[in-house]
Amino acid sequence: MPEIGVVGAGSAAAAATFVLDDALPNADVTVLEKSGGLCGRAATRRHGELRYDYGANYVTSDSDRVSELLTRTLDDDGLVDVTERIYTFDETGEVQPGRESDGNKWSYREGLTQIAKRLFGRTDAEIHRRTRVETLRRDSAAETWTLVDTDGEVWGPFDAVVLNPPAPQTAELLRGAEWESPVRESLVAAVSDVPFRTIWTAVLHYPFELDLPYYALVNTDKEHEVGWLSREACKPGHVPDGESLLVVQANHDWSVEHYDDDPAANVDALATHASEIVGDERLADPDWTDDQGWRYALPEDGALAGPLDAAEAEGLYCTGDWVAGEARLHAALENGLEVGEALATATRR
Ligand SMILES: Cc1cc2nc3c(=O)[nH]c(=O)nc-3n(C[C@H](O)[C@H](O)[C@H](O)COP(=O)(O)OP(=O)(O)OC[C@H]3O[C@@H](n4cnc5c(N)ncnc54)[C@H](O)[C@@H]3O)c2cc1C
Repeated sequence: MPEIGVVGAGSAAAAATFVLDDALPNADVTVLEKSGGLCGRAATRRHGELRYDYGANYVTSDSDRVSELLTRTLDDDGLVDVTERIYTFDETGEVQPGRESDGNKWSYREGLTQIAKRLFGRTDAEIHRRTRVETLRRDSAAETWTLVDTDGEVWGPFDAVVLNPPAPQTAELLRGAEWESPVRESLVAAVSDVPFRTIWTAVLHYPFELDLPYYALVNTDKEHEVGWLSREACKPGHVPDGESLLVVQANHDWSVEHYDDDPAANVDALATHASEIVGDERLADPDWTDDQGWRYALPEDGALAGPLDAAEAEGLYCTGDWVAGEARLHAALENGLEVGEALATATRR
């Protein structure tokens, strides 16, 4: 019976596990996730009746396969498509209508985490949360892998391992791996080379509705301190009537500079920016806030394929948006489906 270990429970890992469970009904899949939640950077929180996507804000797809997965395979119960458009703003904060059509902008009434919850929910995989993998070990005689978590617990042996953390965290795992292989050096280099952007997010709640023609504003010249601002009230089920909730994401430079500053001061600064961009001074004074720093938010490039392919021959698979080379949820999902298939095919041989 094949034993497969998965590090991380992001959307790509969920898609890979979903494929493996179907293609290899006899396989045992064990997923180890460092946080308390599923779906990684596609993250949703609850506060009273509020639900908000504070990492990825929506999912779209230019691939029929991922669209089908989201709208049919996972059933569309609770799937919401934001109909209001995305407008743009520039360095000066001047807002302009964006494209006539910006495609589907999906989330769920319960939030984007539904994607991984539903994918994993359709499998027999064993999922262990709050389990951070610290070391990978290769037994080259037995051709198996074991994983050691930060409590010293040893998981495995596994015939294959799938690594889903963002590239900088995967690189750290690979650098510390107890693994002798000619592939290792080029793999570590390829994964370490993937640059990531940082985002600091403020969540701002108001006890009144906003009458605006757009769902979101995106900064197109990349010169403004704010990169993105969106309204969760445009997603049915997220914000009660009579209230508003804004998600404001700072740009990379601002986020790096203020990453370790007092969160309350960061939230204040971003609320002030929000009020200026939207042109409503009430927005400078939210009645409730939340925040999150995403040190490894968005890959700017993909990893070199050669070393990743070579590692697969030793049962070591990488998956995620940074493997796809596109910082989008749909790209992570598609890559997870492909990696799951590649691993299933190799296991059947
Ligand atoms: C602020 C922000 C806004 C975004 N906006 C959008 C958007 O609007 N639309 C869009 O399509 N995309 C957006 N994205 C990008 C999108 O979120 C990602 O492309 C996608 O979620 C990546 O999924 P993944 O499976 O590759 O990785 P992740 O979601 O990062 O999953 C990796 C998982 O590995 C876990 N992990 C890490 N290290 C370990 C370890 N040592 N042991 C165990 N587990 C570990 C992590 O906790 C995480 O759960 C945004 C991202 C951010 C941060």
